[in-house]
Amino acid sequence: MKNVICVNCRKHVEYELKYVKVKTFVKGEEVVYTQVVAHCKECGAEVWAEEVDDLNSIAPIVAYCEMVGLITPIQIQEGLKKYNIGSRPLSKLLGWSEVTITRYLNGKIPTKEYSDKLLEIFNNPEYFEKVLLKNKGKIKPIAYKKALESLNRTDYNVEEISCFVVSYNLCANINYTVSKMQGGVNGWHQPIYSC
Ligand SMILES: [Zn+2]
Repeated sequence: MKNVICVNCRKHVEYELKYVKVKTFVKGEEVVYTQVVAHCKECGAEVWAEEVDDLNSIAPIVAYCEMVGLITPIQIQEGLKKYNIGSRPLSKLLGWSEVTITRYLNGKIPTKEYSDKLLEIFNNPEYFEKVLLKNKGKIKPIAYKKALESLNRTDYNVEEISCFVVSYNLCANINYTVSKMQGGVNGWHQPIYSC
């Protein structure tokens, strides 16, 4: 944990975190979220820490989005990491304004339509691949290459297989085929099943 300045101790100190439930209103809806407060480890006084401030500024938005079923800034960050793509290139691929996703990361609340589109992209690598191949001319070659490579990562295959196993177990009458179909140009395997 980084050092911060405690005005009480008049020096750099380590801090510890405490969590407080806070009620606020976002878009007219009452939202309860957890606020993080940093305290000086030596005297217990509240101290200011940048990373804590960043967390608190986004926390009510995350709580609101979770409550109403919209994608959260955290889910967007995870999705971008998963496909090794930046917020600007992905906005361009989707035909949106270049800064759309950056604004969502900074706490602007997406519309249902845009939220659903992002959830669909992040939850479905095959769909992302289609969008990527179709719109490759809209982004820089290096961004295209990185995103395409992300689809080749083996952990996706594991994830796809575990989805398949769950579906398999849920079906009473199993009638399925597993295809090692080549997904586009990169050999990404997609199991096919029907129940
Ligand atoms: Zn102190």
